[in-house]
Amino acid sequence: MSEDHAVNSVATIELLRRDSQKILKGVLTGDPEKDRRNVSTLLATINAVSSNLDDAEITKNLVDMIVSLTEADRGILLLRDAEGDLEVTVARGLGGVDLEGEVTYSRSVAAKVTSSGRSVCIVDSLSGEYPRLGESVHELQLRTVMCAPLLMSDNLIGVMYVDSRLAREGFTGADLTVFEALCKQVAISLTNIRLKRASVRAEASSEAKSLFLANMSHELRTPMNAVVGVTALLLDEDLTPQQRELVEIIRSSADSLMALVSDILDVSKIEAGHLDMVSVDFDLRDVLEDVTDQLSLRALEKGLELVCPVELDVPVLLRGDAGRLRQVISNLVENAVKFTSQGEVSIWVSCDERDEDRATLRFAVTDTGIGIPDDHLETIFCTFSQVDPSHSRRHGGAGLGLPIAKHLVELMGGEMGANSVLGKGSSFWFTLPLLTQPGCALPVEPALTKLEGKSALVVDASVMNRVWLSTLMESWGCGCEEAEDPEQAMARLRRAATR
Ligand code: ADP
Repeated sequence: MSEDHAVNSVATIELLRRDSQKILKGVLTGDPEKDRRNVSTLLATINAVSSNLDDAEITKNLVDMIVSLTEADRGILLLRDAEGDLEVTVARGLGGVDLEGEVTYSRSVAAKVTSSGRSVCIVDSLSGEYPRLGESVHELQLRTVMCAPLLMSDNLIGVMYVDSRLAREGFTGADLTVFEALCKQVAISLTNIRLKRASVRAEASSEAKSLFLANMSHELRTPMNAVVGVTALLLDEDLTPQQRELVEIIRSSADSLMALVSDILDVSKIEAGHLDMVSVDFDLRDVLEDVTDQLSLRALEKGLELVCPVELDVPVLLRGDAGRLRQVISNLVENAVKFTSQGEVSIWVSCDERDEDRATLRFAVTDTGIGIPDDHLETIFCTFSQVDPSHSRRHGGAGLGLPIAKHLVELMGGEMGANSVLGKGSSFWFTLPLLTQPGCALPVEPALTKLEGKSALVVDASVMNRVWLSTLMESWGCGCEEAEDPEQAMARLRRAATR
């Protein structure tokens, strides 16, 4: 059984069960023989609905159930079309016979129900109770008719109609109660069917959109690769300063476009669930070096310090998706550099957990930049989210980097988060479980063990560098003091000399 259909049928049964009191009140007439028949028909139909795979079958079953429980000759389900006109959707006769072709029914009765939104029950077309309606029913050689509105959230989506020929007794009040209760179930069932169809359509359209995006970005990358490649070749030529400046503009625009296209490709692949991870042996130091090489110039141009401390117990020979790890760190460092105008950016790597052949590493990219307001921290990982729309004009970017980074980290089995203080800086962190290669620890320089027991003074303007160097020195058994500038350093040295 397809899952969707099973869910739909189960939902129908649930709803039938919920209203069963009402239904049973109508089904149980007091006549034991009739009650037995009614209950067994109801159970048989519920069974049929629950095991059915097809929406059309479900509606046919419901109409059959109505025909059987009301002992009508025919049951007709009429639904409104786009223009609001009633159209015969299902027409069934006694014993579940499909009534094919043009089906006649009392249009006047159906019109009355549509306009009033209330049920109509003509017990006997000759009784004169409804003079004009009764006459029109009698003209069709019918004695008795019941018709009830089908409502979906107060909107009339159609009507359910049953009738019987002259030979039959008229419908009773008990028949009408059963009929109205069952019509409610029909409306609920139809609502479920429509919701399911809408969700299938929405899913298909979203999938088509992702596929289109993936194809488009793929197609765009091919010519863009040529633009980037040829621009690089051109820059190797003997160009006048003015020509060089123009080609540099082409290169930087092409790089931005390429980055955007790659992000769109990643988003569409993530949405379509087509992003595959690879597992290769790599050296963490190479990944970190690639990132710092790529971004240190940009940091330097802004007068920022870019540091990358790796704690001593971090295994560096690893197995995993090095390319995606590089992409995530690059994205965080790029943002950190972009949103920091003075101070420093650090990539701090530590080890959260470690066993024989795996380790969970923690990466924290911290900056001393503009920071992020608290209310934006929650949405910062949502697609197209930017703290301030002017960021995209001033700094470029489309708000895709962080959601992609978070997805990648999660696909690799890790977690990502951020802390920030407005005006002081931000720290984006992620954890990553990785396999380790044998002999993967960071090598300790044997000569450095000679520093044991010595005192050291760490002088650096960068807090991160000072913290990192002090941690390192202390791990070698050195006593450590820190100074952030030459004056402080001299003062500390003088104090040490007099001790
Ligand atoms: P974009 O490509 O627009 O930078 P991201 O998803 O990488 O997209 O970032 C979304 C937004 O998050 C940025 O536009 C910026 O407003 C904010 N942001 C990201 N990183 C930082 C940071 N280190 N400091 C301050 N704001 C940041």
